[in-house]
Amino acid sequence: MKYDLHVHTTASDGVLSPTEVIQKAYRAGLSGLAITDHDTVSGLQEAQEFLRKESLDFTFIPGIEMNTEWDENEIHILGYFLDPLYGPLLDRLVEIRQMRYQRAQKMVQNLQAMNYQIGMEQVKKMAEGEMIGRPHIARALIENGYFRSIDEAFLKLLGRGKPAFVPRYKFLPAEAIQLIKEAGGVSVLAHPGLIRDPGKIAEVIQLGIEGIEVYYPQHSSEQTDYFLTIARRENLLITGGSDFHGPGGEENRNHLGMASIDAINLRRLYKYYDVKKKE
Ligand code: AMP
Ligand code: ZN
Ligand code: FE
Ligand code: FE
Repeated sequence: MKYDLHVHTTASDGVLSPTEVIQKAYRAGLSGLAITDHDTVSGLQEAQEFLRKESLDFTFIPGIEMNTEWDENEIHILGYFLDPLYGPLLDRLVEIRQMRYQRAQKMVQNLQAMNYQIGMEQVKKMAEGEMIGRPHIARALIENGYFRSIDEAFLKLLGRGKPAFVPRYKFLPAEAIQLIKEAGGVSVLAHPGLIRDPGKIAEVIQLGIEGIEVYYPQHSSEQTDYFLTIARRENLLITGGSDFHGPGGEENRNHLGMASIDAINLRRLYKYYDVKKKE
């Protein structure tokens, strides 16, 4: 039994719709997944309706991934089982997406100043959902023939410290954790192995995060072992997922189910959530 708890759809910067992602996972023999789009919950309803209609034997966990920044570190916080109708969460997500839009505008201006032929209209077209992110800018650059892959565009222009980069709006991990908690969800530190300053991991744990994404395609086996040790020592939930953004070669190297958790860790997550709900 394999459960992929980190999947993106067209609601954020993924390529497949919520329905398509579930169909693909089901056909590939996964037992379940969580949709964790960046800073939006707008893909969850379609997924839930599709599963109800088809009555598939498939576990679906509603989720989110909130992209935060802390002392020049990208820190992504996953939230599972949150109430997608919780007003204060939705209000904050609207603000965050507005700030995302402004950030994208500034990056497009930077690119134009460097003579890249690109406009906000094209970037908006790349985004099928309500959220705009750097991958949409990268896809516009690819469409215009500047790069062959998203990674290449990040490496040359869009990544931290690169010429078109604009720092994220103010949104700290502490606030993301708090919002997820208020919305009745469980917070998990995403891909700790990608954090620039590993010292930040202990600081995020101090903030009261409830789980850690141990299994992740870009974690080495040493990192995986290390995060498992931390999870056990700090009594954190163990999660894992592929960070799937869509099929394809160079552009999307993380395929569906490439990292996952087994039924034991899934049961722990459910049990934790059930106990918490009753409190
Ligand atoms: P943003 O939230 O707009 O800052 O965009 C960051 C997102 O871009 C990440 O969450 C990843 O999903 C995606 N991404 C894709 N390729 C890369 C890359 N090479 N480096 C960093 N982020 C990437
Ligand atoms: Zn993404
Ligand atoms: Fe992430
Ligand atoms: Fe992700």
